[in-house]
Order: sequence, then C-alpha cells, then structure tokens
Amino acid sequence: MASLKNYQKKRDFKKTPEPKASLKKPSKKNIFVIQKHFSKRLHFDFRIQIKGALKSWAVPKGVPKKTSEKRLAILTEDHPLGYAKFEGTIPQGEYGAGKVIIYDSGTFENIKRDKMGKIVPIDKCFKNGQIEILLQGKKIKTAFALIKFRDDKTWLLIKMKKR
Ligand code: MN
Repeated sequence: MASLKNYQKKRDFKKTPEPKASLKKPSKKNIFVIQKHFSKRLHFDFRIQIKGALKSWAVPKGVPKKTSEKRLAILTEDHPLGYAKFEGTIPQGEYGAGKVIIYDSGTFENIKRDKMGKIVPIDKCFKNGQIEILLQGKKIKTAFALIKFRDDKTWLLIKMKKR
C-alpha cells in the first residue's frame, strides 16, 4: 500500500504550489502491455486497461509499423491487471502453452474525441468498437486505433498518423 505521509510531512501546502498528497488516481492514464507469445502459433497479445481489467486482442502479425498499416486483432478474454507484468512459460498441455515475454508496456492516453471535440470515455469507445489511444511505452510512443469490423471478435489494429 502506498503512503504519502512523508511527502506530506515535508511540506507546508499553504506555502508550496505542489499538489497535496492524494492517492486518488492522478490522471486518466491506464496501462497497456504487448506480449509476445510463443504458443503453437506465434502471436502478440495487445492488452489495454479498461475499467479494472485488461481488454485483450491476439494480433497474429504483431503491431503495425507503418502509418495506416492494419493488422487483424482478435478479441480474447479479459485479463487481470496484474497480467501486464507477466513473463514466463505456460506449461505444455495448458491453455496458451508456450513462452510469454513482454514486448512493450507502459501507459496510454485515450485520444478518441466525439464530433464536439470531447474525449469519449474509454469503455464507451470499446462498446462502440472505435478506440483511439496514444501509447507511452518504452519502445512505442505512437497512436493506434482499434476498430471493430465484421463481428464482435474481429477488430483491426491500425497505426495512426504522428500527432
Ligand atoms: Mn496469447
């Protein structure tokens, strides 16, 4: 459990413009992870935090590298947030058997706006099948769209223009 007691003790908030101690989530940033999964068929798992869980897509060909490039992304089951730190080997005979490594991880910013220019809440973006996020990973610092197409499970992962 985090504690901000020391932070608080050292400061007089009548004098400093620094923010008061608060354990409330400081920003709208949520976590993401991209895992490389050496299962029967090598693929990447693209996971983003939406409301306390990781929405997950399997991306057979990996993250698109060029602007406007599209990759098929198959929606899979939600994963717990703790999964964003998982690396290891799922034993033979188990679901998803094979090695999992983290390709990149970090936070993302929801950049999807409605026609009035207002940010659309991320869970609504998911429901609408129209997600736009700016990844702030260690390697990847670009924007991607996830667009539902054909059916509920079949999405496209698209690299967006630099912004
Ligand atoms: Mn997988």
